[in-house]
Formats: sequence, C-alpha cells, structure tokens
Amino acid sequence: MGERIAIIGGGIVGVAIARALVLRDRGEVTVFEKEDRLAAHQTGRNSGVVHAGLYYQPGTLKAQLCAAGRISIRDYCAEKNLPYREVGKLVVAVDESELPALADIERRALANGVPDLVRLDGTAQLREIEPHVAGIAAVHSPHTAAVDYTAITEAMAEDVRGNGGTIRTGREVLAMTIDGSRVRVRTADAEHLFDRVIVCAGLQSDVIARLVGADPSPKILPFRGEYWALDPARTDLVRGMIYPVPDPRFPFLGVHFTRGVHDDVHVGPNAVPALAREGYSWLTVSPKDTWESLRWPGAGGLAKQHWRMGIDEISGSLVKPLYFRKARRFIPELRMRDLTHKTAAGVRAQAWGRDGALLDDFAVDQVGPVTLLRNAPSPAATSSMAIADHLIDHYVFARTTD
Ligand SMILES: Cc1cc2nc3c(=O)[nH]c(=O)nc-3n(C[C@H](O)[C@H](O)[C@H](O)COP(=O)(O)OP(=O)(O)OC[C@H]3O[C@@H](n4cnc5c(N)ncnc54)[C@H](O)[C@@H]3O)c2cc1C
Repeated sequence: MGERIAIIGGGIVGVAIARALVLRDRGEVTVFEKEDRLAAHQTGRNSGVVHAGLYYQPGTLKAQLCAAGRISIRDYCAEKNLPYREVGKLVVAVDESELPALADIERRALANGVPDLVRLDGTAQLREIEPHVAGIAAVHSPHTAAVDYTAITEAMAEDVRGNGGTIRTGREVLAMTIDGSRVRVRTADAEHLFDRVIVCAGLQSDVIARLVGADPSPKILPFRGEYWALDPARTDLVRGMIYPVPDPRFPFLGVHFTRGVHDDVHVGPNAVPALAREGYSWLTVSPKDTWESLRWPGAGGLAKQHWRMGIDEISGSLVKPLYFRKARRFIPELRMRDLTHKTAAGVRAQAWGRDGALLDDFAVDQVGPVTLLRNAPSPAATSSMAIADHLIDHYVFARTTD
C-alpha cells in the first residue's frame, strides 16, 4: 500500500497538490478543509486574473512558477472546457514620476519571458488598446487572462475524487503532532495517522505551523482587498484589464480595473489591514488576531515604514470619493455613480517576518514529514499547478522515512 498523505487546506493550492499526487499515484491522499465548501477564502475571493509574470524579481519562485503555472492553468481550462479569456492587461503610467517604475516592470517582464509584451508611448497608442484610458505610457501584456478560480478548484477536486483521493469538507484540523516518522492529525470527529502532511492553510498557515513546532516567523498579516462593481451599463469603459504602476515598496499591485470571465468589471482591490484573519469587513474584529499583530516584533518597523500609505488606503476604504478619485485617474470619464456597490472582499495571507519585512517570494518550510507552505500570496492562484509540482519534487518526498 502507498503512503498516507494529508493535505490541510482546500484552496486551489491544496487541491492542485492533491490532484498532482493522485495522478502520479504517490499514495492515499486526503484533503481536509474546515469550511463546508472548497475555495471559501482567498481562492474564491480574488481578482480572477491569470498573471503573465510582469512584476516579479527574475529568478524568484514567483517569477518561475507564475510563468509555468499560467501555461498549466490555460491548458487545464482548455481540457476541462472552463472559461479562460485572454483579455490582456495594460499597466499605465499616468504621469512622468511613474516612468522609472514602468521601465523597471518592462525590464523584469522581458527577463521573465512574458510573451508578446509591448511598450506603448503617448495617449493615442494607449487608446488603441483601451479607448477610454488616460496615461502617458504603458506596457501591454496581451496574454494576461481572466478565469474562475472556484470552478477550476472544483474541477481539480473532481479529478482527485475520480482517481481515488478523498476530500473532506467541514473538517477543521484542530491539532497535529509528529509521532516518530508519522503525523497524528486530529479533527473534531477522529484522529488520523499519516506518513506525510502538506499544509496549505492560507490565512491560518502560521497557526498550523506552530502546532508542529515550526518557527513562529513568518507570521500571517491579513490584508483585506475591497472591490467596487462597475455599473453594467458602463462596462464598455474597460475592454480588458487596466492596472496602475505599482509602488515597488509595497507587495500589492494597486487598485485596478478587471473584466471578469462573465463580462462583469470590478475595480479594486485596495489593501487595508484586516482586524481578523478572515475579516471581510471592518465589522469583523478578532481581538486575538489584532493583538497578535500589534505585539509582533516587526509591528513598529512596518508601521513606521508604511504609515502614510496605510492612512491613504484606510481613508479610501471608508470614504467612497477617495477610492473613486484613485480609479478616475485612469478613466477620466468615470463617474462616482458608476461604482455601484462593494462586492465580496478578499483577505490576503501575507507573510511577515519578525524583522518587520513583508515576505515577497513564496516560502516553504519542512519540519520532519510535514511540508508547510508559509507564504502563497498572489500570483499563487495562477501558479498553483506549478507550486504543486515544485513542492512534490523538492520537499514532500525529500525526507525518506526508512
Ligand atoms: C483580494 C485578492 C486578490 C487576488 N488576486 C489574485 C489574482 O488575480 N491572481 C492570482 O493568481 N492570485 C490572486 N490572489 C492570490 C490568490 O488568491 C492566493 O494566492 C491563492 O488563492 C492561495 O491559495 P491557497 O490554497 O494557498 O489559500 P486559500 O484559498 O486561502 O485556501 C486555504 C484553505 O485552508 C483552509 N484551512 C485553514 N485552516 C484550516 C484547518 N485548520 N483545517 C482545515 N482547513 C483549513 C481554509 O478554510 C482555506 O479554504 C489574490 C488574493 C486576494 C486576497
């Protein structure tokens, strides 16, 4: 009989790993998901973009696995007949101060092999791609695409079940102990023994890591991203995706316009500190999560470095005209009433070191037979199938039990 392997977390990464393991016939695979459905957190609450790899430092895991992951997701959607729309992305510099950062993105994108990237100069060239945009220069990535990550996760879960794997939703892992070469995993209804465990628990990944004695650093810092819906009567303002030039000091991409697979256009996400790991609005507050963040050794350093941007983002979250003003920089014809309502927010699981630095790259730890994915923010949905191969090839079986 093969090994018994558990995966904790039924987001796209956990399910992609389970799928790769059953297809490689590597053992008896069980996924534990605490919610009553898959993709309930980051995977089902994101921008739905398949990134082409423009931004990432060449040579990093993000750069490598995003490029490989994009191809795998594209081919998987074709195989399963799932929607995949290459609407393309325009990264727009609105004024001269943004030109050096735009040039840097262009350099990185070329080093990362982003296909068919084009540099555009002057409003007229930009408007050939996006007729309503304002800006002085841009890079255009025609193969950036829109997908439905929940549908992809569900299709992968079907592959897992169809190849002998088990998916247990509504099963929160409450405790985990390493017992010799095995791992005991406890849920409310049973205790299970596994040969290997892979943890892809997103917003809870540091909590689970602590159960097996891993370093408490990095800790997860939850950052909420809020979206506004664009009035369906005005979605002709946006053909594909319009992104700002991101601030290189910050790991998030900035408020952008995205045309989804169902032709809806949303504006966002911003980035505000969430007051609970799963805090999808200002009204969800966990004193424990907030207190843990405030007393983390890196808290002072982070606040000192980013307080100005923090105030700006929080004001935009609370005061619609401020959010609108940022969006209108890119589309002057936008009117405040075109942003009709807030749609489902997402919370990013951003890893944070005890020195106060936000981790940029994907990060993995191995504690005996337990593999811990400790930082899997964007573009981890794009990269999910490549992350699965990377973990299986370089971590999960690296330690032999005999
Ligand atoms: C606002 C926003 C926009 C984004 N946009 C994009 C984008 O356009 N493109 C892109 O590529 N990426 C994007 N991302 C990032 C992407 O969504 C994530 O990187 C990706 O979904 C991570 O997948 P995951 O499976 O690791 O985590 P998750 O989807 O968060 O899954 C983790 C799962 O673990 C479960 N879990 C936790 N604790 C336990 C426990 N004790 N027992 C059992 N189960 C447990 C949770 O319930 C959850 O379902 C975005 C993220 C956000 C928040």
